[in-house]
Amino acid sequence: PDFTRTHKITLIPGDGIGPEVTAATINILEAAGKQTGCSFDWHNYDAGADAYAKTGEYIPKALYKSIEQNRVALKGPVTTPIGGGFSSINVTLRKKFDLYANFRPVKSLPGLKSNYPDIDLVIFRENTEDLYAGLEVMINPDIAQSMKIITRKGSTRIAKSAFDYAKKHGRKKIHAIHKANIMKLSDGLFIKCCKEVSEEFPDVTYAEHIVDNTCMQLVLNPYQYDIILTENLYGDILSDLCSAFVGGLGLVPGANLGAECAIFEAVHGSAPDIAGQDKANPTALLQSAVLMLHHIDEAATADKIQAALEKVYAAGKTLTRDVGGKSGTRAFSEAVIAAL
Ligand code: NAD
Repeated sequence: PDFTRTHKITLIPGDGIGPEVTAATINILEAAGKQTGCSFDWHNYDAGADAYAKTGEYIPKALYKSIEQNRVALKGPVTTPIGGGFSSINVTLRKKFDLYANFRPVKSLPGLKSNYPDIDLVIFRENTEDLYAGLEVMINPDIAQSMKIITRKGSTRIAKSAFDYAKKHGRKKIHAIHKANIMKLSDGLFIKCCKEVSEEFPDVTYAEHIVDNTCMQLVLNPYQYDIILTENLYGDILSDLCSAFVGGLGLVPGANLGAECAIFEAVHGSAPDIAGQDKANPTALLQSAVLMLHHIDEAATADKIQAALEKVYAAGKTLTRDVGGKSGTRAFSEAVIAAL
């Protein structure tokens, strides 16, 4: 390999299990790159409480600048305080860079026992508005108000992302998930926009399901869904639900996509219960990195890693505890490197 292809990538290891799954992922990417002739120039930044302790800023200005310049970031989870404290770093970054499409493929890996074999569905979650706009006020000490923002622009562009993806990848069916029976105006606008976009794609079947029913339908028969298209909050919840079909949060990757840049991160959070114990499964972040490699036109490196990962799962000998194995984060990542 001549290493002429060097990719500058902003790296946010995050906290909790973030540094462990990030280190594992980077080691695997670098080992694969050595075989396919590409290398990585990682631009490393803290965010959240760690960044505040060092720089006095939750998201350092240099981090914003780095993402602006590189246009691609790989991110570990960052802890968000509950009920008070600073705003979510994740939500802030998604809003700042207008990363409006949160793309989360949920696909079974070989060898894992599950009540739901051969799952292959995709979630498109709107990523910038809804109750996540963060517009909250205390009306008085006993009444809190959160504002749900849904716009024609936001709804139409996430619907377009989902339908474009369906067309490009030969997916047949899109379900828009909503609660427009109750939130007649906001969710009503969301499904109106989805329906309008669907009319431009006659080859893709379009349906609408109410979110509570969707939870039951998913547990009864997830195979009826192909692409789930939904708002920010429902998408967040349904992603965790769907991750359970394929072995849990340790597995499901994600991409936050905008017109200018993209941040790749797992669905899971910082998992404080297992942080620093070499127990975390790096598969979700690794598969997010595989999505990133496709995004930067490194398909050969992406395919090589995915094949090695699937070999390790099919063999079933070096898996992490969350999927029934006995190995640690490091041993698992070494097995993937050996399988490259
Ligand atoms: P979580 O996803 O961190 O953990 C939920 C459960 O799944 C835990 O039992 C955990 O051990 C397990 N788990 C998660 N990832 C795993 C992995 N890779 N391997 C093995 N097991 C794994 O959710 P939580 O506990 O609700 O949230 C913890 C913190 O993470 C919160 O501060 C939350 O705000 C934050 N969070 C951040 C992001 C992000 O950075 N994008 C996303 C979700 C939650």
